[in-house]
Amino acid sequence: MSDADSVPTLSADGLRTGLRCPRQYEFAHVHDLEGEAAAVDGRVDLLRTALCDALRSGETDGEALEGLAEDRLATLWADHDERFHSATQRRHERRVLEATAAAYVEAVGVDHAAGIERLAAAAIGGELVGPGLPLSSTVDLSGADRGDGPASAPESVRIDATVDYVTGDGSSLVGVRFVPTVAPLGLLRYRSDWAGDVAALFTDHFDPESAAFDPAPVGALLETAVVLDGLRGLRDRLELGDRTCRYVQVPLADRSGTAVNWVRDDVETSLEIVDLTDVYVDHHTYGMTHEHRNATVDDRLASVAAALVSGPYDPEERWAAIEDHACPTCDYAVCCQDYIAREVGFDG
Ligand code: SF4
Repeated sequence: MSDADSVPTLSADGLRTGLRCPRQYEFAHVHDLEGEAAAVDGRVDLLRTALCDALRSGETDGEALEGLAEDRLATLWADHDERFHSATQRRHERRVLEATAAAYVEAVGVDHAAGIERLAAAAIGGELVGPGLPLSSTVDLSGADRGDGPASAPESVRIDATVDYVTGDGSSLVGVRFVPTVAPLGLLRYRSDWAGDVAALFTDHFDPESAAFDPAPVGALLETAVVLDGLRGLRDRLELGDRTCRYVQVPLADRSGTAVNWVRDDVETSLEIVDLTDVYVDHHTYGMTHEHRNATVDDRLASVAAALVSGPYDPEERWAAIEDHACPTCDYAVCCQDYIAREVGFDG
């Protein structure tokens, strides 16, 4: 939370952590204790920067765009001090990054670069290319289910998220975020509709009677709500008309589509790009608002946010699932009293 103004803030990353375990959220985001997993993936950041710099150039020709990204990557790579086992491994990792940049340009880069130019011409100014373009959504907590939290919780919260650039696609404003991998999205990768098993996955996660525990895809749906609302705010500030907003993730470190020819020292890859909009929007809310919204997700976003800004961060309610799914890979296990008490049997 921030003390900078009277409205408390959360982040999309904080929402994801809180869904996994509220105590983990307290360690990471209230006390700012850094876990080992918090170390940024430096290679993804290099490529993110190189691609954003190429897109910012205004170039829309594929070959030229790829060349700009490669040149920028070469400069950034020269200063990249990650430890590798060997010079061969270092060379290979750079080849993978170059192949990923090429795959990005071929898959969507050219279209997105042209879309950025069209948007820039229509907007009244403002940044369209990051990396890390800030977006935010202010969520009203006055009607939120506060569970066992204190009644004095704030009336609203600002939730921050980022995209790496914003582009235009027909009558849509599209926010794009480069992520390491889309694997955490789970079922959302394979569906294009909220109705059915996505809605069930979401509601089951919050059902105390259900053993379901899917914090990553549920967190992605909450993040999508935040990003789309943030994009609507950006659209209005830049006077971009009544475009509908969309949210797309592009993975930069997903090796599942990578093929290596060690003889020719050649790497090829393809990218699985995921548009989270359709899997988030529910048709009923869309019909009522003509905006890409989902009342179920938005209501739950408010109650999750209310719990995270007010505490008490007790993992007890979901302990069985948290112990099975979150504790084994938790960076805070060595200092977590909930975990230690259970491990040594002091939980009464
Ligand atoms: S060890 Fe388990 S209970 Fe403690 S913070 Fe981590 S996930 Fe939560």
